[in-house]
Amino acid sequence: MNSKKLCVADLHLHTNLSACAPKTTTVSSYLEHCNSEGIKKIGISNHLYSHKGIEHTLQIKDEIRSLQNNTSIQILLGCEMEMFYDEDFMLDKKTARNFDYVLLAPSHIFNSMPRYEKFDLSSPDKIRHLLIDNFKRACVLDLGVPTAICHPLYPICAPNQQEILDGMTDAQLAECYTLAARHNKSIEIHACLYRNTVTLDEEGLSPSYIHMLSIAKQCGCKFHFGCDAHEPFAFINTHGLLQRAAERAGICEDDLWDLARV
Ligand SMILES: [Zn+2]
Ligand SMILES: [Zn+2]
Repeated sequence: MNSKKLCVADLHLHTNLSACAPKTTTVSSYLEHCNSEGIKKIGISNHLYSHKGIEHTLQIKDEIRSLQNNTSIQILLGCEMEMFYDEDFMLDKKTARNFDYVLLAPSHIFNSMPRYEKFDLSSPDKIRHLLIDNFKRACVLDLGVPTAICHPLYPICAPNQQEILDGMTDAQLAECYTLAARHNKSIEIHACLYRNTVTLDEEGLSPSYIHMLSIAKQCGCKFHFGCDAHEPFAFINTHGLLQRAAERAGICEDDLWDLARV
């Protein structure tokens, strides 16, 4: 059993610059809980839904800079860039340089529904196909900065999430994760591992997602941790679960993405 503490950095956190987060969530909201969670580095990754959102997302720079002077917790500035199917990307190599890293979100199909109305998503098969396709688009995107894929292959807000996962073959997963590894995209050890929208076991973890992580490891992927909190309660008591998921997938320190280390 690998008992080394791997989960020391959480790179997927939202503040009130994300419209879906409460007004009260700031960078400080997380800092005060880092010690009890064993977290030594955090990354703020607010949603980026449009080109106009870049300036908006960058407003947090000053807050980070002033907090960084007074804390030993390292704070990175990232963003969570939407990967709408069939649309231009919000960031290019020039604008991406404003961020320490970029999380790519290829699986917000159901919570961005108006954008996907033209797609036939009437069966788990069709949803799965789109999920995998969009994941591969994320893999090959080169933004010139460290880039990762958040909540990989998680059909957020979709009906029958477990059924969608159950239909993914190991060969399909290996194809996805081999592509991610080849293009240096870090894979997130993510909140969906313990969200009860999928079947959880006695440890409160999803065997399906742990299986996916183990295939990603076999394919040579690097990993980071991200609890995707929009407010502190979703940050507290989560990092032990993420650590445990990594251990069960056989992930060790050598498998961590550079930014996931301290
Ligand atoms: Zn997301
Ligand atoms: Zn997020």
